[in-house]
Amino acid sequence: MLRALGWLLYIIVLLALTALTQVGGAILMFSTLIVWSIFPVGRLGRIKALLSHTFAFAALYCAICLLLIPPVAQINGRVALQCLPTARQVYGALNPLSCLLNRHYVVPEVEAALMRMSKELSVAQPGTVVAYLDAGFPFVEGFPLLPHLSHRDGRDIDLAYFYLGGSGRYLPGEARSPIGYFGFEQPAADAKLPCAQETGFKTLRWDLAWLQPYLAPYTLDDMRTAEMLTWLVLEGPTYGVSGLIIEPHMGERLGVHSKLIRFQGCKAARHDDHVHVDFD
Ligand SMILES: [Zn+2]
Repeated sequence: MLRALGWLLYIIVLLALTALTQVGGAILMFSTLIVWSIFPVGRLGRIKALLSHTFAFAALYCAICLLLIPPVAQINGRVALQCLPTARQVYGALNPLSCLLNRHYVVPEVEAALMRMSKELSVAQPGTVVAYLDAGFPFVEGFPLLPHLSHRDGRDIDLAYFYLGGSGRYLPGEARSPIGYFGFEQPAADAKLPCAQETGFKTLRWDLAWLQPYLAPYTLDDMRTAEMLTWLVLEGPTYGVSGLIIEPHMGERLGVHSKLIRFQGCKAARHDDHVHVDFD
């Protein structure tokens, strides 16, 4: 019975690692075989076996993700975005977990657009850092990057909006939520609300009202966010930008209008916590 439960737990962890990181499940199987080849089953006690497997997986996962996946992904036409901003390239992951989970791979055009846009925004407003959220996995066209409905081919990226702290000071590389998602901007009282009647669990359009008070009380940096959206609709197409997804009230608020901006509809996540960018 205990053995069956152990296997069930192993399969759940394997599936979760695959969904979260694409390669984590395969690496777990590989590390399990290595530990078994060194310590045949039953040789170690339960605690020692669990520690050995955990350590072997963590070490192998870090080594493979750091050293092997970036060059192999490049052969597959995807590049790893830099995780931390540098003096020359002022963009990075909002949360380094995106890189640890291999969710920062894109086609080279996306990287080129990020490099150019972050440079121009930081020249216009010194200190500006563009922060990305989920991008794509390193391999396989069509592999789902859950919980997104898109992000399957390295040609999608989510970018965080910009925020100000209590004193009105710009906060580089920060957002209301630690992962960038779910810190929603609430529409103005007179804003048009196309999904007012459609907020059920099944619509995937979750307001998460209970979560909002626990997130950082930052205010949207309208100026920087409008500049980023403007760059994406005006300069972005040169780099392959083919569409942006934001909530309609965000476009109204920031005064950015373009035929490239569309609304995801009422059966997908809200986009007033980040902007989704599509590339051709
Ligand atoms: Zn997205």
